[in-house]
Amino acid sequence: MAVTVYLAIPCYNEEAVLPETAKRLREKFRALRAAGVITPGSRICFADDGSKDATWTIIERLHDAEPETFSGIRLSRNRGHQNALLCALMTLRDRADCVISMDADLQDDIDAIDAMLEKFTSGCDVVYGVRSDRKKDTAFKRGTAQAFYKVMRFLGAETVYNHADYRLMSRRALDALAEYEEVNLFLRGLVPLVGYKSDVVYYERGERFAGESKYPLKKMLSFAWEGITSLSVQPIRFITRLGMLIFCFSILMLIWFLIRHWTGHTVTGWSSLAVSIWALGGLQMLAIGIVGEYVGKIYLETKRRPRWRVETLLDDRGETE
Ligand code: UDP
Ligand code: MG
Repeated sequence: MAVTVYLAIPCYNEEAVLPETAKRLREKFRALRAAGVITPGSRICFADDGSKDATWTIIERLHDAEPETFSGIRLSRNRGHQNALLCALMTLRDRADCVISMDADLQDDIDAIDAMLEKFTSGCDVVYGVRSDRKKDTAFKRGTAQAFYKVMRFLGAETVYNHADYRLMSRRALDALAEYEEVNLFLRGLVPLVGYKSDVVYYERGERFAGESKYPLKKMLSFAWEGITSLSVQPIRFITRLGMLIFCFSILMLIWFLIRHWTGHTVTGWSSLAVSIWALGGLQMLAIGIVGEYVGKIYLETKRRPRWRVETLLDDRGETE
């Protein structure tokens, strides 16, 4: 039985790559329709995350020329990849049996869509696209990304190894995801929490087709930090343990110095004292900083600000129910 699928593709300043992405996806859709895998109601939806270049004009043009293939969502301003993606998923979930999210830069192999749809028809609610290798990433990006997955696992947050945001989700999985109302978004950590039957599809991650990466090192680090602190409270526990350990150690030190004093040795070495003051001062500041990070998150969550606003929705199909 053919399924109605929507592709959700967040785009931020992607004018360089969008025409090519649209072309390749159009061909893919044509083939899938001809094979009877997807219904005529399926759409490729680009979500413009407040781009400053011609991205939205390109999306409008695609929709005007082929409304039966392309649709578009325009966010009222730039809200970042995770928010834009969730906005697209939530806007489209009533219109399709399943939604596949992918990047606009053709790094995600579009031929994996077939395998994803196959798994969906055989009963999976979530299908994760997993990179089979990272040969085409720079050694630095590969190293840091893999270290990140390992740290996440060590801290007890469940993520799928080497999976980014290329995934298929069924309507009921999306409905479940809608109930997670947090503003500190880290989707690849949230989706596994939804549960349901899931599977993985392996693909080779390509190079960015054109344009520049929107995730420079600084943004990558803050994304990783966001992931850790929004999924795990281990860092706070770690601090508590470290504090206890240091306190025990200082008691031992005290006993040692008293014994030395009573046995007539003068205490030498103010330098060790100075070092420990600095070390403890530093550790305390670090600890307060980490606790502050979580307090900051609570602050943001309690505000319950909207995570995105749709300015325009271009889609020729109404809701299916
Ligand atoms: N993106 C977005 N909003 C942003 C930054 C990025 O919607 O503020 C989109 C971007 O257009 C792309 C995807 O997120 O489709 C992934 O970004 P990119 O390819 O630059 O990241 P990388 O693959 O280098 O990690
Ligand atoms: Mg990319």
